[in-house]
Amino acid sequence: MAITITVDGEKQVLPVEMHVELWRELYIQPSHHNHRVVINGHEINETKEKTVFFKDGDIVTWGSDKSSELGIDGVCPASLPGDFSEKDIIHYSRNMLIPGVGRKGQYCLQQAKVLIIGAGGLGSPAALYLTAAGVGTIGIVDADVVDLSNLQRQIIHNTSNLNEPKVESAQAKLKALNPEVKVNTYHTYVTADNIIDIITDYDFVLDCTDNFQSKFLINDACVLTARPLAHAGIIRFQGQLTTYLPDKGPCYRCLFPDLPPVHTVLTGGRGGVMGALCGIVGSMQALEAIKYFLNVGELLNGYLLKVDGLTMEFRKMKLPRNPDCKFCGKHASADVLPPQWRELFVPKHSTDA
Ligand SMILES: [Zn+2]
Repeated sequence: MAITITVDGEKQVLPVEMHVELWRELYIQPSHHNHRVVINGHEINETKEKTVFFKDGDIVTWGSDKSSELGIDGVCPASLPGDFSEKDIIHYSRNMLIPGVGRKGQYCLQQAKVLIIGAGGLGSPAALYLTAAGVGTIGIVDADVVDLSNLQRQIIHNTSNLNEPKVESAQAKLKALNPEVKVNTYHTYVTADNIIDIITDYDFVLDCTDNFQSKFLINDACVLTARPLAHAGIIRFQGQLTTYLPDKGPCYRCLFPDLPPVHTVLTGGRGGVMGALCGIVGSMQALEAIKYFLNVGELLNGYLLKVDGLTMEFRKMKLPRNPDCKFCGKHASADVLPPQWRELFVPKHSTDA
């Protein structure tokens, strides 16, 4: 048994037992109604949004006069540098079936490079979901080893990994989940000396750290090198999330201009962190990165999302850009940067507030 599918004149015979679930529905969007869909010689001529059903053994052809507009979901271009193998199509079918994702979106994810700083409560779910989604390159930075007290929330590690560097433990899980994803590890703390070299190899950064010092450093490095950043923080049942896009909104320093005194900050180590909430917020960081690469939806750029795990209230608060921000504002200067970064500073002329 097989379904014969022809896309733009290119015939593919697909075994039903492997593909019937993927191929039995073809979603047609109204903006792409110029597609010709032919099932068993009968043209389905629809100009409205429609799902066309077909069954095992059917011969299905779809295409349009514009060969560049074809794809599995009728949205993405067919002219990708390479095509997906049958195995990849099955693997990522639930991504590709989403209107607006398709083959092009999956290709964009495969090309993406995401750096996750912190392989803990937030980094664990973020790394797992990004890897599962097929993001091509994942970098993980963490200086710690796995401790028993981590396992209440850091779900990428388990009891067999105790005392092992977290980056190695995480890498092993990610490779087992998706061997095709390249996983780079950095068994170190981020510092002013190393962070620029690390993040410039990536397109998107997730701040999954648990201390303000790292958060400020990561923000400043992302502003300096124009890297998008999904920031998150968690304490007890409370979480928060925002995304920085270079020159398109506020940075973390617009919200918190200066590092708070250490004794005023309640850390997870002293105050506690609810693991399931890390799962929610870390997954949302991964989702922000995925949307960025797919160019869909709205990012939390310019908003702070506050998540209350006790009341289940999600509050999205407008986060204005501070025009006087020392790092991203009109008067930003190299003086506020660590000395070793100053030669990278480019004065801003933006009047956007
Ligand atoms: Zn700023």
